[in-house]
Amino acid sequence: MSLTQKSDKREYFSKASWMASALIEAILPSKCLVCGSFFQPAMYKGYNLPVKIFNDESMSAYQKKNTFNKLMLPFLCPACSSSFVPVESPFCCICGIKFKSRIGDDHVCGECIKSPKKFRTARAVGVYEGTLMKTIQRLKYKGKIQLARPLGMLLFFAFITYWDKKRIDLIVPVPLHIKRFRKRGFNQAYLLIRDWLFCANAFNIELSYSKIEKNALIKNKQTEPQTGLDRKQRLANIKNAFSIGDSSKITGKSILLIDDVYTTGATANECTRVLLNGGAESVDVLTLARSM
Ligand SMILES: [Zn+2]
Ligand SMILES: [Zn+2]
Repeated sequence: MSLTQKSDKREYFSKASWMASALIEAILPSKCLVCGSFFQPAMYKGYNLPVKIFNDESMSAYQKKNTFNKLMLPFLCPACSSSFVPVESPFCCICGIKFKSRIGDDHVCGECIKSPKKFRTARAVGVYEGTLMKTIQRLKYKGKIQLARPLGMLLFFAFITYWDKKRIDLIVPVPLHIKRFRKRGFNQAYLLIRDWLFCANAFNIELSYSKIEKNALIKNKQTEPQTGLDRKQRLANIKNAFSIGDSSKITGKSILLIDDVYTTGATANECTRVLLNGGAESVDVLTLARSM
């Protein structure tokens, strides 16, 4: 695709979404998907955001919040969208947990020293609380799949912020068991990355090095929801729940594992164990939210 075609596409993307939302806004106020109140979104400018600010790890919490607000504008009222809390330094260089103390450098947390992780690094966009938690729940349990694209864009920006794209061969969503998949109708982890190629084109970002491979992992054990289980129960629950879909696809590959939420890391660690045993070179983890 030529540069002109790419910029035409970006312009079209931006104009089309702006016109569509302006029209909808003129007819109907929006209903906030978190609190249910009606609101008039400010004139929506589409997804034409300055992507450069995401390429900078020193990006301020204010800038991250501002981006969240812009992307979520058509879906969340200003009060809900302003309560988003980004994950920012100082955090654990391995598992990415945000430290309570807001001073000092990134370092390895006590938990990662006590029980070393199998993955290389884990990073997340925001703290799993308030608005972000409710937004993920609306997507997963209420089928509000229109939230997948803006949330997926936030995840995409985190990907290009924290990793060198050329060093990730495969992007793999954490799978659902077939029964849960049929009941829900979608895998939220896959929905979050489904439009990454589209995002990359819209922002002129080269993504040809990293391939999305949704069937690299299979979940073959129907586990209890991890919510409400303690650490030991979570580990037992998830043990041997995953297997490799096609080992020829993962052999020697650097993999980025995608999930919606990182809680204790039990799921991420178990998926990593299976992928490494199956021949993967390395595994990193990216989630939309991180429990603190
Ligand atoms: Zn609201
Ligand atoms: Zn850690």
